[in-house]
Amino acid sequence: MAQLSTDVRYIKGIGETRAKALEKLEIRTLRDLVCYFPRAYEDRTRLYTVRDLPLGESACVRAMVASEPEARRIGGGRVLVKLRAVDETGTLDVTFFNQAYRRDSLHTGETYLFFGKVEGNLLRRRMTNPLLEREGQQLLTGRIMPVYPLTAGISQPLLCRAVRQGLDECRDLWEDVLPEDLRMAHRLCYVNYAYENIHFPATPEALDVARRRLVFEELFLLRCGLRLLRNRRRGVAGPLCKARDMAAFYEALPFSLTGAQRRAIEDAAADMAGDRPMNRLCQGDVGSGKTMVAAACIWFAAQNGWQSAMMAPTEILARQHFENLSPLFERFGLRCALLTGSTRAADRREILAGLQSGRIHVAIGTHALLSEDVIYGNLGLVVTDEQHRFGVNQRAALGKKAENPHMLVLSATPIPRTLALVIYGDLDVSVIYELPPGRQKVDTFAVNESYRQRINAFLRKQAAQGHQVFVVCPLVGEGDVLPDERKAATAYAEKLRTEVFPDLRIALLHGKMKPREKEAVMASFAAGESDILVSTTVIEVGVDVPNATVMLVENAERFGLSQLHQLRGRVGRGGAKSYCILISDSDSEETRRRLKVMTATNDGFRIAEEDLKLRGPGDFFGKRQHGLPCLQVADLSCDMRLLDEAQRAAQELMASDPGLAQPSHEPLRRRIHELFALHGEGMN
Ligand code: ADP
Ligand code: MG
Repeated sequence: MAQLSTDVRYIKGIGETRAKALEKLEIRTLRDLVCYFPRAYEDRTRLYTVRDLPLGESACVRAMVASEPEARRIGGGRVLVKLRAVDETGTLDVTFFNQAYRRDSLHTGETYLFFGKVEGNLLRRRMTNPLLEREGQQLLTGRIMPVYPLTAGISQPLLCRAVRQGLDECRDLWEDVLPEDLRMAHRLCYVNYAYENIHFPATPEALDVARRRLVFEELFLLRCGLRLLRNRRRGVAGPLCKARDMAAFYEALPFSLTGAQRRAIEDAAADMAGDRPMNRLCQGDVGSGKTMVAAACIWFAAQNGWQSAMMAPTEILARQHFENLSPLFERFGLRCALLTGSTRAADRREILAGLQSGRIHVAIGTHALLSEDVIYGNLGLVVTDEQHRFGVNQRAALGKKAENPHMLVLSATPIPRTLALVIYGDLDVSVIYELPPGRQKVDTFAVNESYRQRINAFLRKQAAQGHQVFVVCPLVGEGDVLPDERKAATAYAEKLRTEVFPDLRIALLHGKMKPREKEAVMASFAAGESDILVSTTVIEVGVDVPNATVMLVENAERFGLSQLHQLRGRVGRGGAKSYCILISDSDSEETRRRLKVMTATNDGFRIAEEDLKLRGPGDFFGKRQHGLPCLQVADLSCDMRLLDEAQRAAQELMASDPGLAQPSHEPLRRRIHELFALHGEGMN
């Protein structure tokens, strides 16, 4: 008998090849298949008469085969089968290309439902390669049809049939994760009904009922899971820290901290001096000075005798942190080390020894900090920068390098409050709304190709004034085929070098370069040795070049708003007036709306809200990057009321049974463990 975890190959018609294709859609098991939800629906409930079939649209008609199908060979070894079908109002000509079997499978006098695009003229209707099904056995016609996102080798009808079979196989396998009384209290339908009707809704109302249940379930599971993660850390003590006067640290800084920075630091220090491990997210716009919050925490930990590790998503960023922070720490007699993938073996050995013995107080690096052989003598604080690039699991992995260390997460992606609640439900949050004084607004322009000459003149003028320019060009390919990154970026830079700005120094940075090469280019640009830095998106995160005054983004429509905002944050870091130029030739309404948001505001939180509205939360974080279960049905930009209801329900339930230990909560507990993929490790 099938299980929810049974391989999709179990389904009729799914063999090796199609299973491979389905894997691209992350469908591997029956459960995946049934949880693969339609992105839209097509109403095929209306049955037309032949005479009323709407020209140029897709429609359904019931008609009887009125002539034996005739097959004819046409060029290229192809076969064409033709027949006539009739009802009491007229005649429909039906043609099949390359479906020779139709000749023998269809017979005069049989009635079918045909669905297809209606062609022809007022007197005569035609359909080419329509779907057809016998009446009473319809799956694809005469009803509200699901429309699934597809991939090569998987067609809509194929997927519909597979899902249909999947639903039938799973019918008796569902365990309701929602306890009965909760389901009743919130007027939520049965699981079976929900899955059936999210795919093949009997009526539009049934679809609403199904969707409501699934959205609720999804948000409820997420909230309960995050609560569980959080409760797990309750009752254990973090590395012991005593409150300290931070003044000594503040006085060592070249500037005075903003109020928001101080508040974030105080929040964190209070956590660390508390009786359980800190688990805090520090959220602030690009340039708001989160690094100093981390630095203060590291200092605070060190004053209490604890080591710290700070993990950045890229090597460039790790190095920048190291270069900024190590002189500061050294003044307090704290030793820092930089550990990345390209640290030389001999250096690495020495660093590892230093970390184990406790001689090194602060480790700054990339995920190399997580390597198995890195052992920390007395790790007390773990800082991860740019959180959304690491998954919860990675965060947990670094956390496991010590017994319940304090955790501080820095995120430069302003996250709308609603989303933060869902995604970071296991963290306490400090928000830095304020930028350091003296920051100028970056003037932003969204333009099309017709401005090219003017833009070039502008860039040249900026360079003449001794300023520098970032140019970001995303990879633009045809369809799904991405061009060779090295080639595309190189060609672009070459064109600037030879044709457009032969008088300027052009540097190039792309993702295919070795970390060392990237470092060198970045360092040289930061030192003012080139005027224009052309790059793919590798500069998105964190890098500081105060002399850069222009951020020019090619094909700006390719980026999400939050990404554009991050890019823009690369300029305006020095004293000079800075500009962001977004070039796009797209005339799509949505692109225009999005770029307009960029020109209208510099406020990262507002932009994030807009991004969420325009693109939905799935895209917001990039697929599965955050390591939390993906929201598949919930749309946080419009399911707010339900989100609220699910949150409250989760809170109540978790308050009454914090470990989900009651027998009636067993299915719920099991599902959460599956979803968070933290079996055994994190959650128990
Ligand atoms: P982000 O929040 O994007 O990580 P950073 O920590 O990199 O921001 O800070 C951006 C820049 O602002 C750095 O050059 C940093 O030295 C500077 N900075 C941070 N805090 C202040 C402050 N209170 N006053 C002036 N400059 C500051
Ligand atoms: Mg930063």
